[in-house]
Amino acid sequence: MPYCPKCGYEYQPDINTCPDCNEQLVAFLPPDPNQGELFETVQLCKVPDEITGMALQSLLRDAGIDANLRDMRASFYGSVLSNMQGFWGTIIVYKKDEKKAQKLYATFQKDFQGK
Ligand SMILES: [Zn+2]
Repeated sequence: MPYCPKCGYEYQPDINTCPDCNEQLVAFLPPDPNQGELFETVQLCKVPDEITGMALQSLLRDAGIDANLRDMRASFYGSVLSNMQGFWGTIIVYKKDEKKAQKLYATFQKDFQGK
């Protein structure tokens, strides 16, 4: 649902501007500045390939963490960087989930190496 960034009113999807404020509607309200840090994202780790990335992502998601798998090769610079450093992509999580995610990542690494 689009929102007016000025008055915060929610509109129908076919409306593009707020008739009251004459503002362009946005898809989501900007995060509360007081909670800004909670919505910051951090790179949890690098993953060597897509399979590992997806396994780790689903582990984190099962634990209720909104993890995003970023394919570094999707952009030119990312591709150069990942070829140089020998990884496929990165796992991105919200800062508020970072500690929990790191614990799960440590567990994941143990399981991964144990097999
Ligand atoms: Zn408005």
